[in-house]
Amino acid sequence: MSATSDFSVPANIRAISPYRAGKPSSELAREFGLEPASIVKLASNENPLGFSPRVKQALIDYLSTSSLAELGRYPDPNAFDLKAVLAQHYDVEMANLTIGNGSNDLLEIISLAFLDEHSSAVYSEHAFVVYKLSTQARGARHLAVSTKGLGLDLERMYEAIEEDTRLVYIANPNNPTGTFHPRDDIIAFLDRVYASRGNKTLVVLDEAYNEYLDPELRFNSAELIKHYPNLVVLRTFSKAYGLAGLRVGFAIAQSEVTDYLNRVRQPFNVNTLAQIAAMVALEDEEFLAQSYQMNKAGKAYLSAEFERMGIAYVPSFTNFILFEMNEAPKVAEALLAKGVIVRPVVGDGLPNHLRVSIGTEEENQRFIAALKEVLA
Ligand SMILES: *Cc1c(COP(=O)(O)O)cnc(C)c1O
Repeated sequence: MSATSDFSVPANIRAISPYRAGKPSSELAREFGLEPASIVKLASNENPLGFSPRVKQALIDYLSTSSLAELGRYPDPNAFDLKAVLAQHYDVEMANLTIGNGSNDLLEIISLAFLDEHSSAVYSEHAFVVYKLSTQARGARHLAVSTKGLGLDLERMYEAIEEDTRLVYIANPNNPTGTFHPRDDIIAFLDRVYASRGNKTLVVLDEAYNEYLDPELRFNSAELIKHYPNLVVLRTFSKAYGLAGLRVGFAIAQSEVTDYLNRVRQPFNVNTLAQIAAMVALEDEEFLAQSYQMNKAGKAYLSAEFERMGIAYVPSFTNFILFEMNEAPKVAEALLAKGVIVRPVVGDGLPNHLRVSIGTEEENQRFIAALKEVLA
């Protein structure tokens, strides 16, 4: 028996299997003795262009002037300046906004505010694993609904709602499948949940990949909170904005929900540099457009290569592609040895798939070349 076995850890915490993140390049470099610069990391859906040059300049300016001394102080606990810019951008009130240390933090905050051991949350299998983790951490029951094909089955998700269900998580587009539901499907779902449950069940609409949608598919979800008091929309600066390392995301909801979120939020959850970077990032539409275009081209290239190689893949609405692979974990290992990091999705219940983030043109080509070598 191990020395730690007598810790009084609640059963719901013992039941948690820790989140397995995409492998960092530095770790792979150490393991295989590779040159860090030669590694292609396509495992965590980061923006291959990095972030806006305007953000870079803003950070450099901050760090090279007397403002730097401000880092000795706590950040603005209410992120006033960032909220002001976001409120204008999304045409909502500042009272509708909660800023998080990434949207992961917001998922945690939402679960803290709404779940306890007398409640349940509904989520889809093959969806973002943090929905399950944060539910488990609260000791709430987690109700996993199977997908339809590899897309969310909104009909079954609605039917899965029980009397004690306080949260339903919808990732749209979904990770790791890359599937998407258009506005009408989401509205129909919200209407049904609100009609039958009122404010007893909150819908968490996680739109981490929104900025990668084709313009005709994007819809104004921020505006929907005016009609649905039970809706929380989540967005992040980690994906298209390229600020994954700084950790910023935000929630949009009616002010009463925002108030509850703020009660459990850590007061200084978002650091000063992250607040500055997010503010500037939001304004650089040119960088966002460039990122979208590059992703679109990369998606077309990778999709065409998969087809040529006879590899089945899920048409993607995001900056990653889920593709089918026999012995996927072995293939992922073999790719690692060639300096290419993709994401195994066994933990998401997909043992015969891999997820590859869309990189730069050169990164995508290196990935395809490595995959061809591994499969040969
Ligand atoms: C990447 C991702 C997030 C964002 O996480 P951050 O904490 O903001 O970096 C949220 N939801 C989904 C579905 C994601 O894939």
